[in-house]
Amino acid sequence: MIPAVATLLDDGPIPLARAMAIAADHYYAAREPFGPAGDFVTAPEISQMFGELIGLWLADLWQRAGSPADAVLVELGPGRGTLMTDALRAVRRAAPGLAAVPLHLVERSPRLKGMQAQKLAGAVWHDSVETLPGDRPLLLVANEFLDALPLTQFERTEAGWALRRVSRDGWDLALAANPAFIPETMRGALPGSVHERNFAAEALVAGIARRLAVQGGAALFIDYGYAGPALGDTLQAIRNGAFADPLSTLGEADISAHVDFAAMARAAAPHVQLFGPEAQGMFLESIGIGARADALKAMASIETRAEVEAARSRLVSVGAMGRLFQALALVAPGWPAAAGFNRMAR
Ligand code: SAH
Repeated sequence: MIPAVATLLDDGPIPLARAMAIAADHYYAAREPFGPAGDFVTAPEISQMFGELIGLWLADLWQRAGSPADAVLVELGPGRGTLMTDALRAVRRAAPGLAAVPLHLVERSPRLKGMQAQKLAGAVWHDSVETLPGDRPLLLVANEFLDALPLTQFERTEAGWALRRVSRDGWDLALAANPAFIPETMRGALPGSVHERNFAAEALVAGIARRLAVQGGAALFIDYGYAGPALGDTLQAIRNGAFADPLSTLGEADISAHVDFAAMARAAAPHVQLFGPEAQGMFLESIGIGARADALKAMASIETRAEVEAARSRLVSVGAMGRLFQALALVAPGWPAAAGFNRMAR
């Protein structure tokens, strides 16, 4: 556990969400989490195809919306900047007008901002979504961003539902004065059951949806998750590619939780058209990963061909990232339907 969290605990237990927010800031500021030498590998780091296809998805929607020249491109939590670099290369060919619009990046880690600046010169950085432009259509993408936002966990005890807090000696349970946050069907769950809510992620998604309704545009969220309501503890910490104990490694390991896509859809629903949640594999197949992989293979050596094929399989196959990861698109009212989704949610 890093000193910043340990010191706070001297004054007593703190809610998990608070500890996770401090831990995430420290972690992304201090460690190099991405890539083969880091703690985990994200989709854009697996293959250029991921960012390229997302770029084409954005370009297609923007063109069918009449190519609004005042739009801006936005990415939340760009990491090493790989996704947007690959996306822009594809957008430059498919829709040069979109490649020329301003790029806004939401990133809190000064270290990662520096890394992003080397690849994405000319972008505008924000510490939060609050300061994004308020008067232009947004074409926004966020990959593995929601899972890092501070999670709230409730645990059922003999005496009722309690809020999980972090203390010097491990978990601490504070009986919830108001169990309104627990879905009715779960109120009678067995002691030890855990129910999760990500209030930060819900608020962020609702805020983006409200902006889209006013400003126009679309947002694509991709993350690992499920469609709740559900019981279960999905908090996880990963260090050097292996699972670690989330509490004892606060700030030293990547800490994240599965995203409840039903909760995200519910937060956005009053304001926008919803597409998905759809499994990442289905989504990437239907926006053309097969054709893109074939094109890359056609120009490649035998070894590279095998690499392209392995990457495609890792992104789409059910046993790898194809089903655990989900895509959810929010589209402004009056904008055209998003490509790549087989069904509309609700
Ligand atoms: N999208 C990238 C990186 C995912 S990791 C990829 O797919 O590889 C999460 C990213 O979100 C990191 O860049 C991290 O610094 C950033 N981040 C996490 N919490 C944040 C917050 N509350 N506000 C802004 N950025 C945040």
